[in-house]
Amino acid sequence: MSKFSDLGLSEQMLEQVARAGFDKPTPIQEQAIPNALMNRDIVGIAQTGTGKTAAFVLPMLDILAHARQRPGLPRALILNPTRELAMQTAEVIDIFAEKNSAKHALLIGGMTIGEQIQKLAKAPDVVIATPGRLIDLQQRGKIMLNAISVLVIDEADRMLDMGFVPEVEKICSLLPAQRQTLLMSATMDEEVGKLVKKFTNRPKYIDLSPQKRSAETIQEKFIPVQNERQKISLLINELKNRTSALIFCNRRQRVKEVARMLTANRSGDHPDNQLAKNTGKLHGEMPQAMRIEELERFRKGVIKFLICSDVAARGLDIEAVDCVVNFDVPISQDNYVHRIGRTGRAGLKGSAITYVGAEDRVILERNGMLKQVEQAIAKDGGCWQGSEKPYLATTETERNYRQSPKKKRDSAKSYLGTGGVPRKTKVARSGGEKLNKPAMQAEALPAFLRNPV
Ligand code: ADP
Ligand code: MG
Repeated sequence: MSKFSDLGLSEQMLEQVARAGFDKPTPIQEQAIPNALMNRDIVGIAQTGTGKTAAFVLPMLDILAHARQRPGLPRALILNPTRELAMQTAEVIDIFAEKNSAKHALLIGGMTIGEQIQKLAKAPDVVIATPGRLIDLQQRGKIMLNAISVLVIDEADRMLDMGFVPEVEKICSLLPAQRQTLLMSATMDEEVGKLVKKFTNRPKYIDLSPQKRSAETIQEKFIPVQNERQKISLLINELKNRTSALIFCNRRQRVKEVARMLTANRSGDHPDNQLAKNTGKLHGEMPQAMRIEELERFRKGVIKFLICSDVAARGLDIEAVDCVVNFDVPISQDNYVHRIGRTGRAGLKGSAITYVGAEDRVILERNGMLKQVEQAIAKDGGCWQGSEKPYLATTETERNYRQSPKKKRDSAKSYLGTGGVPRKTKVARSGGEKLNKPAMQAEALPAFLRNPV
């Protein structure tokens, strides 16, 4: 393992690195930094939490410090898929650019554009942006991109997931062809490969993705559950023993529901009242300012638990999260890897707990995790019941029905179909059908995916 001082960084930068408390480079930094300093294009693939941000920020700042100035025009552009990630990148730049003269501007949606226009008028050297807002500002003539010499595409796999490829393409068409491009991703697949081809020029590949893509410091557990109520009580018990946890749900609506269930009937001096006080939520429907505030409260330990949608799954570097709970089984394996990557970061130990109901078999079959889950449950001596009928939608009515006492259920049958599902929904029509009918899965799951996070 080499030292930071072996990588070709400037003395000034090495001082900043020491001040930041980084003893030695992580593997991605060890390989990316010297190559980036030689002005090569880089494709860096490494798990979440392995220090990819510093792997591009350090050489980028050094390159800018020693290259010709272009007064008035930004020279480096960092694209991030989400506002939160862009803010985090800006924070890292703040740390390392302290003695460096590079001024930067953060251009993200959800914040007033006026302030950003003012910031741009001050001629920043580095621009950190989400694609939509950058294009907006460019079209208003507020930013010129023709002097960009370093482009960073961070979290490329997430850019793809969020459908940002056309925007990235548009932005790249506005940049000089002669430039250095650094592309970072936690995962590498055919789609990311296409991006690499499109946006980089004879890059140096640094692929550190291990066979098993989640960090070895994470202990993964899959716990079979019978129903929603059991999930909630397991969760409450789990949180009693945890110092901090992120609890992931698939949709924003679910985040609200779980938050409600966790905090219901716990007023006054109820022993679980602490739990309500310690729990926050984060999803895409919340205004940006509130999302930031909630994340800060979690980061600072004001609240210990955060119920969130996949908005928080990728790249957010929240220190020392003790545990990640998948309250809902993630739709894709990538999402799983990213969610559990919020714990066990930078060598710390962490736990990842996933509750699996019989109805989750469909999702697990589809996302390729079924075998892993079955094996893990069997290894722990657990028993996971097979599903008798598909359980794809958690509509209010269906859930109430499932959780109501038998007497109520019988009377509810006048409204509900015989399969126990509301007649008027898509699910009702398929209520009695077998799980493994492919047409059914194909039709039901995309609807699930379309739900906003
Ligand atoms: P990634 O982008 O790969 O998911 P980050 O860049 O967010 O990971 O880094 C994860 C954490 O590791 C951050 O808290 C960062 O400060 C820390 N870190 C990065 N590089 C080092 C290093 N060389 N030594 C110690 N900590 C580091
Ligand atoms: Mg990152």
